[in-house]
Amino acid sequence: MKQHFTVLLLLAVSFSLFVCSTDTSPEDSELVRPTEWWENLPRPVYANLEQIETSQWWFEVYKLPGNIFAIYEPNQFEEIISYLVQGDKKSLLIDTGLGIGNMEMLVDELTDLPVTVVNTHSHFDHIGSNYQFEEIMIFDDESEIRRLKEGIPNDVLRKHVESGNVWRGLPEDFDPLTWKTPPAKVSRLLKEGDVIDLGGKTLEVIHTPGHSPGHICLLDKQARILFTGDLFYPGPLYAFGDDVDIDDYVNSISKITDLCNEYDYVCPGHNEALVKKSVIPKVNHAFIQIFRGKGKYEEDSGIRRYYFGEFDIIVRSNMIKNQE
Ligand SMILES: [Zn+2]
Repeated sequence: MKQHFTVLLLLAVSFSLFVCSTDTSPEDSELVRPTEWWENLPRPVYANLEQIETSQWWFEVYKLPGNIFAIYEPNQFEEIISYLVQGDKKSLLIDTGLGIGNMEMLVDELTDLPVTVVNTHSHFDHIGSNYQFEEIMIFDDESEIRRLKEGIPNDVLRKHVESGNVWRGLPEDFDPLTWKTPPAKVSRLLKEGDVIDLGGKTLEVIHTPGHSPGHICLLDKQARILFTGDLFYPGPLYAFGDDVDIDDYVNSISKITDLCNEYDYVCPGHNEALVKKSVIPKVNHAFIQIFRGKGKYEEDSGIRRYYFGEFDIIVRSNMIKNQE
């Protein structure tokens, strides 16, 4: 009888260990979201940029060279950045942020020109205010299009504004319990090499899969700026999500490294609005190091965070074969 109990006890203990170990998802790991991440804000780059006053405290707007505004949301962990690029005839809104502030109202204050939206990809933090705009472009990829057309429900989004994810409160008219991303229409599907003409300024579409299958970068040759979305930003690069294809990611970094004679700065989707291009070949080199089994990292919950100084890379541990 005693032996029987011992077996039951062992089964119970191993079951609870199993439950505990699968309970910690990579997103909850301290390696992905450190507690009190806001203590390092404001980021030094913003002291060197001209800030534009607007009517909503939720957004910080900065003027960049080349008739571009950076629209930064520093109060939520993602520190998402959307960009408004102005031509002579049209303005282009690159991503629409979290959907917490009123993006349409903000953009109305910044430009009198008609606004078209282009999404670098369709993760929640880049499409939040799509529904407020009529013209929306995205790369011709089934999974990206599906997320735009379906929208994102409250039970998926809500955790992103729970404690630890925001640090200076939320806008008065925003309700976390009803927050959702409404479905949006797609008006133009983009392909590699397509050109978006704003009148006196064009942007070229560069397909850069990896972070997600239909991810794009946009090249403004006149301003010599590359908008990199989530392929590159100064911070921990997410190369571990369900959408990630690590081989594509590495190829896409290599593709924008090869293009670096065409731009001087990159405008990323998170953290810092204007970054010198010299970091891009370093990311390329960093991936090579990781796949050679080199690089300094910490491991937790099935992921590894590799540290490279100007940026980090987070991969799933099982992606690394230690091919030395
Ligand atoms: Zn993102």
